[in-house]
Amino acid sequence: MTDVPRERAIDNIFEGITRKSRAHLARAISLVEDEADGAAGLLSRAYRSRKGAMVVGITGASGVGKSTLVDAMIGVLRDAGRSVGVIAVDPSSPFTGGAILGDRVRIRSAHNIDPYIFFRSLASRGHLGGVSRHTGDVIALMDAFGFDDILVETVGAGQSEVDVMRYVHTVIVVLAPGMGDDVQVIKAGILEIGNVFCINKADLPGADKTRREIEMMLAMKENAGWRPPVVETIALSPDQKGAKEVVGAVISHRDYLASGDLMKEKTRQSYRAVLEEYLRLVTIEKVMKHAASDGTLDSVLDEMERGEASPLEVAGRLARRYLTRSCHG
Ligand code: GDP
Repeated sequence: MTDVPRERAIDNIFEGITRKSRAHLARAISLVEDEADGAAGLLSRAYRSRKGAMVVGITGASGVGKSTLVDAMIGVLRDAGRSVGVIAVDPSSPFTGGAILGDRVRIRSAHNIDPYIFFRSLASRGHLGGVSRHTGDVIALMDAFGFDDILVETVGAGQSEVDVMRYVHTVIVVLAPGMGDDVQVIKAGILEIGNVFCINKADLPGADKTRREIEMMLAMKENAGWRPPVVETIALSPDQKGAKEVVGAVISHRDYLASGDLMKEKTRQSYRAVLEEYLRLVTIEKVMKHAASDGTLDSVLDEMERGEASPLEVAGRLARRYLTRSCHG
């Protein structure tokens, strides 16, 4: 049965987004983040109304200056008359993440005065892959709103950042001299995903060394097509040295993507990433519900408790059982 008042509320929120009401966009993002009733309807509308914003990811270890660089990039983009949506993603645990994001929100709130900038933090709420899935959806909402550029900034450098970066067209990896980033970059596989490398804090000693290390690593990579540029920045300086060049490198990468079928490929890849996240969620929920409904869950838990089966075996068995049943109606 359709819940008419809820449908109407969702229509109203979506209509607000198409009118470029930032309050409605904020409300929509909260609904999606909370996985609230109506979020699915909202997302169906949003995905159908995407306008094709350029989506840029900014990643790198904590403290290298990502937030400062994003602020500098916002300045460059606003000077060019572009509107910017910013998503700060914290995939770490909700216990450690809150404080960092809290600070960021306070610092950033100044930007929210500009009607052409919208800033939003997303923190992990402990759902399975939730923060990553929500990032894809929030990008879609911001795209439906009509921002020219969407910047996605992640805290830290781990697998979750790599996952989040699947949703963007261009990935900027930010490093800083003397932070042992070389090790982190390799560890997190971030070298693989970087389209533009930014050595921030170029005012500090060691920037040259960091640049040489990155260039060496890039040279060792098979590199057909796009060759990631390495840009030095001093995001903190009054003239935000290098920020224009970073934006320039992003534009070059966009042109490169647009020159072939690569843009289409990237977009498909990002849909595939969100789809995988949802499938994982839907499958887990359905299989578990199915197993619980007829007592199978209890009996397999007994089996594992008695040491007669491993969770891997049981997972395969439950999934097969569920699929066989769904295939036969
Ligand atoms: P994030 O954790 O990567 O987002 O890093 P932040 O943007 O919060 O910056 C971490 C610290 O580095 C802050 O104290 C910044 O003021 C400082 N910082 C940012 N950019 C520069 C820079 O270009 N040079 C120097 N010396 N410090 C910077």
